[in-house]
Amino acid sequence: MPIRQKIRPVVRSIIGQLVDGGFEAYIVGGAVRDLLMGLEPKDYDIATAASPEDIRRVFGKRQSRIIGRRFRLVHVYAGAEIYEVSTFRREPSADERRERLNDDGVMIWRDNEYGTLEQDARRRDLTVNALYYDPVGERGIIDFVGGVRDLEERCARAIGDPATRLEEDPVRMLRALKLVGQFGFHLEPALEEALRPRADRIALASQSRLFEELLKILATPRTVPILEAFQHYGLLAHYWPTLSSVWQTPTGEQTRRLLAERDRRVEAGTYSTSKALALATASLPYVAARLGGRDLGELWDSDSPADHHCRDAVHDFFAPFPVSRFFSTRVRDIALLLPRFASRARMSRLLRHPEYKYARELYTLTGHVCGWPAETLAGWPEAPEDAEAGADRPPRPRRRRAPRAARREGA
Ligand code: ATP
Ligand code: MG
Repeated sequence: MPIRQKIRPVVRSIIGQLVDGGFEAYIVGGAVRDLLMGLEPKDYDIATAASPEDIRRVFGKRQSRIIGRRFRLVHVYAGAEIYEVSTFRREPSADERRERLNDDGVMIWRDNEYGTLEQDARRRDLTVNALYYDPVGERGIIDFVGGVRDLEERCARAIGDPATRLEEDPVRMLRALKLVGQFGFHLEPALEEALRPRADRIALASQSRLFEELLKILATPRTVPILEAFQHYGLLAHYWPTLSSVWQTPTGEQTRRLLAERDRRVEAGTYSTSKALALATASLPYVAARLGGRDLGELWDSDSPADHHCRDAVHDFFAPFPVSRFFSTRVRDIALLLPRFASRARMSRLLRHPEYKYARELYTLTGHVCGWPAETLAGWPEAPEDAEAGADRPPRPRRRRAPRAARREGA
């Protein structure tokens, strides 16, 4: 099927509106890469010559919002979806860069100026991520950097000097290795040579950005091959130290087996894509080892006072990622429910627990990997009808109304 027909109609419509407003606009980045590989893009990034103010004029105040402090881009709303529209930018010059180094010596890659289409392509990380597609006019694929050929050869090649580009932003190492694990790319030799000795610099990047990347990795059905690529190129020890330290031990091996089975189920659409469940799955073998289960197959004693040990273990496993209390509590809850499936302790409460659905999925997955007899797993309903599985965001705090008297006084 030609690419044009695979593009979400709403994306064509957004680009069409920009073009009708007199501005060049294209799909860019991962979406073009995925379309050319015959995959359905998860999200679309749109790049345009229009400034953020122009974009807002095209879509109006109700359908768009300018976001970002350092570099402003626009969120365009289309139904429940949000599309990120950004203005063409260029890399700062060497002089500008010198003035902008932050304390860690790591440039924040978004920190740059408006530019032309070609400059916008050249500031991107890898050639295969710098392709543009014109879904409304006649230009088709626009390639300034040889990205189409590299994509055909599954070659991850940096734009510009690899060492400089990795030093500007170490997250680019992780992005290149994601392509290796996710889609079977190889690293172009100069990129590989620059990457290996710089792997430790990943720790200079902001931990919240790195944690976001981890959540994105866990959202793919290729978590294990991605982590294996990190390990192979020496990145894992600096990116995710605890996992790397147990990688060769039985705990590490169990983690990979659990995640590999999870990858299969995510691909088949039979495992929930909740972030809390993903974090609970990844951390279960480590948490089980810390809570004293003899091995994953036996879990731990459901009566042991495991509460805060469990949360500590979760934090230690993911350190130094800033896992919020919201997530660590949910991961702990999911983990602590597991032995209760086996002991069938307090069953009616178990069934009503908000994490029941995810705990059951993880319990079934673990049982499958550890070869538990089928009857251990049978008989647990998917979820009681009135229970709702936890959402990936904390609930919004309710705004308290001031007491009546205070309101009358205008306080
Ligand atoms: P996916 O969304 O599938 O994870 P992606 O390549 O689209 O992959 P995004 O984070 O959505 O990743 O980024 C969109 C585009 O922005 C990239 O394709 C790339 O062109 C550019 N980009 C992202 N991160 C960087 C970076 N650290 N340095 C330079 N360019 C980047
Ligand atoms: Mg993207």
